[in-house]
Amino acid sequence: MFADKVNITVKAGDGGNGAVSFHREKYVAAGGPDGGDGGKGSDIVFVADDSLSTLIDFRYKKKYIAPNGEPGGAKRCFGKSMEPTIIRVPRGTVVKDAHTGRIMADISGDEPVVIARGGKGGWGNTHFATPTRQIPRFAKPGFPGERFDLTLELKLLADVGLVGFPNVGKSTLISVVSAAKPKIANYHFTTLSPVLGVVKQGEKSFVMADIPGLIEGASEGAGLGHEFLRHVERCRLIIHVVDVSGIEGRDPIEDYEKINTELANFSDDLSKLPQLVAANKCDLASEEQIARFEKYAAEKGHRLFRISAATTEGTSALMEAACTELDKLPPVKRYEPTPLTLEEMDRLAAEKRSFTVDVEDGVYIVNAEWLAPILYNCNMEDYESLQYFQRVLHQSGIIDELERLGIEEDDVVSIYDFEFNYVR
Ligand code: GDP
Ligand code: MG
Repeated sequence: MFADKVNITVKAGDGGNGAVSFHREKYVAAGGPDGGDGGKGSDIVFVADDSLSTLIDFRYKKKYIAPNGEPGGAKRCFGKSMEPTIIRVPRGTVVKDAHTGRIMADISGDEPVVIARGGKGGWGNTHFATPTRQIPRFAKPGFPGERFDLTLELKLLADVGLVGFPNVGKSTLISVVSAAKPKIANYHFTTLSPVLGVVKQGEKSFVMADIPGLIEGASEGAGLGHEFLRHVERCRLIIHVVDVSGIEGRDPIEDYEKINTELANFSDDLSKLPQLVAANKCDLASEEQIARFEKYAAEKGHRLFRISAATTEGTSALMEAACTELDKLPPVKRYEPTPLTLEEMDRLAAEKRSFTVDVEDGVYIVNAEWLAPILYNCNMEDYESLQYFQRVLHQSGIIDELERLGIEEDDVVSIYDFEFNYVR
C-alpha cells in the first residue's frame, strides 16, 4: 500500500526540573544553595531518508513522544539532556500543522529539521541566590516540550511529471527512458503509486515521475487521481501523454482537454506548468489519426512529439527536448515555512488556560503549560510581542490572581525562564 498523506502527533521531551538543595559539609552550619539545573528534553527532528518512498509507516505508528530531560541534582549536578529523537521520512515530505495547515517544514534537503523543540531544563536554586535572598527554597520546573498534531504530505521531488489518462502508456515510457520498472499492463490503474526514474541525457540527467492515471472528476476528489495531483505540484515540466491510436475508443483531443481541465481545477499553478505533448502509440495509429491530433496541438501552440513507447521510437527526441526545456526553467519548488501568527498563538492559548501560581520567597511562580509555546515564539524585545504577551496575562486571569495573592510593585514574576518585575 502507498500512503502519501498522514496525520501524526509529536511531543518533544520536557525539560528536567531544577533541584532545590543546599550545600552540606561538616562544621559548615548552613551551606549555600547548590541545586543543579534540569537537562533539556529531546527535540523531535525530521530527516529525509532516500530509502523511504511512502509514508506508510506512519499509518501504524501515529504518536511520537521524545524522552524528557533528567532533573537536576544536589552539588550543582546538571540533569542529563536528551539526544534528539529522529523521525525519518521520504524526501519531499511537507510537514504541516494539522489544525491550521501552516507549513512548518519541507523535508527536501539533507539538513535535519527540528519540528518540536524539547523543553529547556529548569534552573536549580543556585540561580536564585541574591544578597537579599540567600536561602532560595525553590527551583524552576523544566519547560514543557512542544507538542504538535501534524499532517505529513509527500510531494515528490521530480523535474518532469508524466500525466495522462490510464493506459495511455506512461509507465511504458518511463520504463524505456530510465531504469525505473513500474508495473505495466493493459488495464486501467496499473500504477497505484508514483514511481520515480532518473533519465540520463548525455552529461545531464533529470528525475521523471510516473503519476497514476488521472480520471475525470479527480480534482473534485472523485476516485483515484486527485490525491496524486499533489505530486505534480513540484514538477517543473509536464509531459502530457496521449494515446493517439484511439485503441481504447476514446478521442485523443477530448482526453487531452479533460486532463488539462483537471489540472486547472486542482490549481492555477498546475495549469501554468509548461507541457510537452507526447502523442503515444504511433505504431498503432494511422497517419490520419496522428495528423489530426498534430493539427489540433499546433493550433493550440503546444509542442508535440510523435512517439511509441512500445518501440521506443521518438522517445529520445522527447527526452532531449525535455532536457533543453528544463534548462530554461526554475529549480524544483521548495515550500517555505510560514511563521506562527499572533492570532494563531491566541487561538492555541485560548484552548486551555488553566494555571497555578506559587509564591516562594516573594517570587510569584506561574505554572501554565499553554504559556510555554507562547514564550517560545514571543520575542520579548519586540514591542508588539511584549504587548501581546501582556494581553495574554490579563485575559487569562493571571494578573488578577497575582493581585489576589498580594503582589506588589517590583515583585518578581517568574514564568519558566522568563522573569520580570511587576509593574501596575
Ligand atoms: P499507463 O496506465 O499510462 O501507465 O499505461 P501503461 O504503460 O501501463 O500501458 C498500457 C498498455 O498500453 C500496455 O499494455 C502497454 O504495453 C501498451 N502500450 C504502451 N505504450 C504503447 C505504444 O507505444 N504502442 C503500443 N502498441 N502499445 C503501448
Ligand atoms: Mg501506469
